[in-house]
This record gives sequence, structure tokens and C-alpha cells, in this order.
Amino acid sequence: MAEHGVANIWRKQKSMYSIIGSKCTTCGEHYFPPRPVCPTCRRKGQLEEYQFKGLGKIHTFAVVRQAPEDFKRQVPYVVAQVELDEGARLTAQIVNIEPENVEIGMRVRSCFRKITEYGQGGIIVYGYKFEPTMKVTGHD
Ligand SMILES: [Zn+2]
Repeated sequence: MAEHGVANIWRKQKSMYSIIGSKCTTCGEHYFPPRPVCPTCRRKGQLEEYQFKGLGKIHTFAVVRQAPEDFKRQVPYVVAQVELDEGARLTAQIVNIEPENVEIGMRVRSCFRKITEYGQGGIIVYGYKFEPTMKVTGHD
């Protein structure tokens, strides 16, 4: 029983620091977030847990200039739909770049950042964000 508990905690940590989705071994499609059933294969589909490599490109993005109180310090920031190399898309904040330098098609990789902190020394919520794979120095 104790072993089971440890495995459970590890599982939770893993999903906090990784991008875990599903892969259908029947058709080879990747899904994020994880799905219980492959929408293409339905009953013939065989889904298994899949950890994305965290590499992809920006499919679309928007610059957010208004934010709820908890996020005010970060405004403006970029929220993008990232197309992962495996084909799945997800929405994430783009960091380590000025909003005006973000471009569609830009290569990005996942990085894990503190998203919210509740009070001093309180609970910290982490989540995935993405950053450019190459340092952006601006236009010249
Ligand atoms: Zn499938």
C-alpha cells in the first residue's frame, strides 16, 4: 500500500512537470490533453500515455494586455496555440521574448515556470509555458 502511495505522488509530479497526453498506437495520432478514446479509431483505437518532447512551433498567438488581478504584473504577455512536433496543439503562455518579436511559425520549447503563488511562502502552482528555442535579439 505504501508503495502505491509513492507511485501516486510521483505520477502527480510527473504530470505537473511534463506534458502528458495520449498516443493512439492504431493510427499514430497524438492528443493533448489525454483522451480516453481515439476520435478517429473509436473502439479500434489503443491509447497509451505519451510524454511530449515539448518542442513545436507557434501556430497562432495573441498579445494579452488585460489580465485578472493575479496576473497583472505580467501584462502584456503572449498566449499562443503551439503546434507540437507530434501534431497535437495546446494553448500556453510564451515567455522569454518581447511580445512584438513573437512570430507565427517560430520554434518554441516547453519550460516550466511558476504561474501563481498564494501568499508568502504559500502554495506555488507550476505549469508549462513555452520559450523560443533560439535567443531573439530583435530586428536589425
Ligand atoms: Zn487512432
